Amino acid sequence: PFDVLVVGGGPAGASAAIYAARKGIRTGIVAERFGGQVMDTVGIENFIGTKYTEGPKLAATLEEHVKEYDIDVMNLQRAKRLEKKDLIELELENGAVLKSKTVILSTGARWRKINVPGETEFTGKGVAYCAHCDGPLFEGKDVAVVGGGNSGIEAAIDLAGIVKHVTVLEFMPELKADSVLQDKLFSLPNVTVIKNAQTKEITGTDKVNGISYIDRDSGEEHHIELAGVFVQIGLVPNTDWLGDSIERNRMGEIVVDNRGATSTPGVFAAGDCTNTPYKQIIISMGTGAAASLGAFDYLIRN
Ligand code: FAD
Repeated sequence: PFDVLVVGGGPAGASAAIYAARKGIRTGIVAERFGGQVMDTVGIENFIGTKYTEGPKLAATLEEHVKEYDIDVMNLQRAKRLEKKDLIELELENGAVLKSKTVILSTGARWRKINVPGETEFTGKGVAYCAHCDGPLFEGKDVAVVGGGNSGIEAAIDLAGIVKHVTVLEFMPELKADSVLQDKLFSLPNVTVIKNAQTKEITGTDKVNGISYIDRDSGEEHHIELAGVFVQIGLVPNTDWLGDSIERNRMGEIVVDNRGATSTPGVFAAGDCTNTPYKQIIISMGTGAAASLGAFDYLIRN
């Protein structure tokens, strides 16, 4: 059996696997797609110590670093079931069952998409999902935030300090965000909120130049010229496959303590699939390292 079996090959999983292998213990990593969300990212400017890099380049260096160590890399394999017996069993979609003394779950998350024309086409060319990451690219420009929940309103407040003007588009007749956030938002001079707005299309040529929406009251279509669209309608953790085997919160995030331990002894978790706040590359790597050290601690005590 493995000592540490990591599920997920994004920044959290790569970090966890390297920290484990450096302890000289038997380490494996199963990943549906090595690199994770980083593979879908264009410019990265907040990976501290690296002024600028691009997603596929960072993913390649993650893979290269993992391969420096004696780690059993099982790429293009999807886990479908986890069960704690004497050892922890991980069943893959291809039918194989892997056994390990500890498991580190780092299956990440995915941004919920609005699924309108232009969204996929202009991702990284004006369509963004992370205000902390891409806000500064729109300094002095007009942007929209789609989504009036907490994450949308937080993003709008954040962006209002950087960009020229922010339009918030909310599908429902009311914003869902906490009232303190709404109060803050409405105190800002450069924000407009449009409710009952159904996003229809993100327009552009080589990059975004506007957004079209339908006013759900009147049925009329409107178009706003702008340079960026931040989609903030939810981050979905890739944890459905775990069922009831591990405690998850209302949003489906795996509940962990500050050593990455989950509700099941020997099972740890890190990165965007957990309830750790702030989903970022550097935070995923940090929590991946912590979960790996947590797993090592568990191994030497059991
Ligand atoms: P992920 O990167 O999501 O990796 C999850 C891994 O698990 C993948 O390998 C996946 O294939 C695998 N997996 C999932 N389910 C299974 C399964 N059942 N079995 C096996 N494997 C599975 N952050 C920044 O810090 N700076 C940025 O500039 C930035 N820009 C971003 C731009 C975009 C477009 C997006 C989408 C995200 C961006 N982020 C950015 C966020 C950042 O990418 C994530 O916080 C980070 O990748 C999370 O790492 P992770 O390892 O937890 O999960």
